[in-house]
Amino acid sequence: MKEITIIGGGLAGLISSILLQRKGYEVNLYEKKQFPFHRVCGEYVSDEVRPFLERNSLFPDASHPSRIRTFEFSSVKGRRFELPLDLGGFGVSRYVLDEFLYQIALKEGVNVVTKQAITDVRFIGDKFLVKTGSESFESKIVIGAYGKKSVIDNKLDRGFTHKRAPFIGVKYHIKTDYPKDKVALHNFQSGYCGISAIEDDKYNLCYLGSREMLKKHGSIEAMENMVVKQNPFLKEIFNNSEFIFDKPEVINEFSFSPKSAVESHILMTGDTAGLITPLCGNGMAMAIHSGKIVSESVSTHYTKGQLNRQALEEDYIRTWNRTFKKRLRVGRRTQALFGSSFTSEVAVSLMRNSSFFAYQIMKNTHGQPF
Ligand SMILES: Cc1cc2nc3c(=O)[nH]c(=O)nc-3n(C[C@H](O)[C@H](O)[C@H](O)COP(=O)(O)OP(=O)(O)OC[C@H]3O[C@@H](n4cnc5c(N)ncnc54)[C@H](O)[C@@H]3O)c2cc1C
Repeated sequence: MKEITIIGGGLAGLISSILLQRKGYEVNLYEKKQFPFHRVCGEYVSDEVRPFLERNSLFPDASHPSRIRTFEFSSVKGRRFELPLDLGGFGVSRYVLDEFLYQIALKEGVNVVTKQAITDVRFIGDKFLVKTGSESFESKIVIGAYGKKSVIDNKLDRGFTHKRAPFIGVKYHIKTDYPKDKVALHNFQSGYCGISAIEDDKYNLCYLGSREMLKKHGSIEAMENMVVKQNPFLKEIFNNSEFIFDKPEVINEFSFSPKSAVESHILMTGDTAGLITPLCGNGMAMAIHSGKIVSESVSTHYTKGQLNRQALEEDYIRTWNRTFKKRLRVGRRTQALFGSSFTSEVAVSLMRNSSFFAYQIMKNTHGQPF
């Protein structure tokens, strides 16, 4: 019988594993890949998590993340506006950040099992039966930190798995001539592309596009030439930058539909509990924050070997909803302003005429520093 099993070694899984290990639990984290590795992500982290990371010696100072203070937005046709960010953030690649946290987890005694996917989890008689490809074991608590989608979602028959999701995400690292303190979101027909500095004079170039557009043009390259580069800022960046990867990181089939924070008694964290639209630049902060709140709920309701499961689940759901539900909803609604010629023009006009409108969106799509 394992005490705590965490499925997935992204930010939510790594942060919760370290915090729970520090509280004295026996923690087992299963990650299907091997660290370090690249992920599709814009790699802009809201400063709301900075005090928490610094206080807990979890901020990757040695990698010198970029400091980001300004926001730029352009419509499909290239009309733009720029304004200071209310909170700001930092830029660091997932390759560096996740590896940094993974090394801390190992050093502090988390049992991290890599290259091992969890294939099934069932709740039977007040404990979980967990399966990998090669073994099965029991666990008192299971935390789902497996990101946007996994076979486990299908096994649990979660509602959002019934619909095909229309999105694709594509990421590059590039070297280019661009202000280091700026994060930009440039629209194109059916999507938007972010650019911001990360560590070592590199930049992240990452976009959310549509599967349908990819199908229509036949390849990522053709879609970029025909669609993405119609925005003049993106054309300039794509044509005049050095691309570091041989080929882009790509993901598809992920959903922004509402999910639940607890499903079949599994405590869901990060994207597994709800994926915020990338335009908000808040998914990484939410994954880190949910790792913190799940570890606090567990340590409140599982003490001296005694687990009050019902109180734990109620407390976690309440805290999760209070902390994240509103910004997920605002993020879904705001996404409607992106990715079309007409609505992106409207958004630029609104934001040019009233910075109040832009600040309201910013304020409501991220949280306060904690
Ligand atoms: C295009 C795009 C751009 C984005 N840009 C930004 C941005 O700029 N800023 C921001 O804050 N957020 C951004 N996000 C969101 C952000 O990437 C996520 O919210 C964040 O990565 C969530 O972290 P996580 O720990 O929940 O999941 P993940 O980081 O996805 O980690 C999940 C882990 O679980 C592992 N796993 C999956 N299934 C299993 C299994 N069965 N067994 C074992 N392991 C498993 C996976 O390999 C993975 O390592 C973006 C998202 C997209 C799609």
